[in-house]
Amino acid sequence: MSIPVEMTAVERWATEPRTVALAASLLPDPHADPALICASFGLRLAESDLGGYVHAVYFPDTIVCSTNPALGPNGRRFAFLHEIGHHAVATGRAPHIPPEREEAFCDGFACAALALDPAVLADGLRGLDQAAV
Ligand SMILES: [Zn+2]
Repeated sequence: MSIPVEMTAVERWATEPRTVALAASLLPDPHADPALICASFGLRLAESDLGGYVHAVYFPDTIVCSTNPALGPNGRRFAFLHEIGHHAVATGRAPHIPPEREEAFCDGFACAALALDPAVLADGLRGLDQAAV
């Protein structure tokens, strides 16, 4: 079975020691209340119907999480932490990430924060729903 190229990039970021260390330092409890995590970064947390494809969105002052019921708790947590990854990049907490690599970095960052095997992302929401996080 071949692994998509993008999955390989996510796996690299998820296991890269600086990503793991950054996730551990920024998110000592990745399962904490997202509102508290946002507050610790001076961010607002909002919820909105973002449609079926977008799971969360990062703005410099706000993270908006989807209310899509198809997104289970693991998918919701992953999407939220992915946006924290964008915040880390935007605020210079993360090392410089070329824009074309930022999405893979943020997926890897969320995986590192949750000690999640990036392979679960190959199955999208189904993989996240079944993941032990
Ligand atoms: Zn993203």
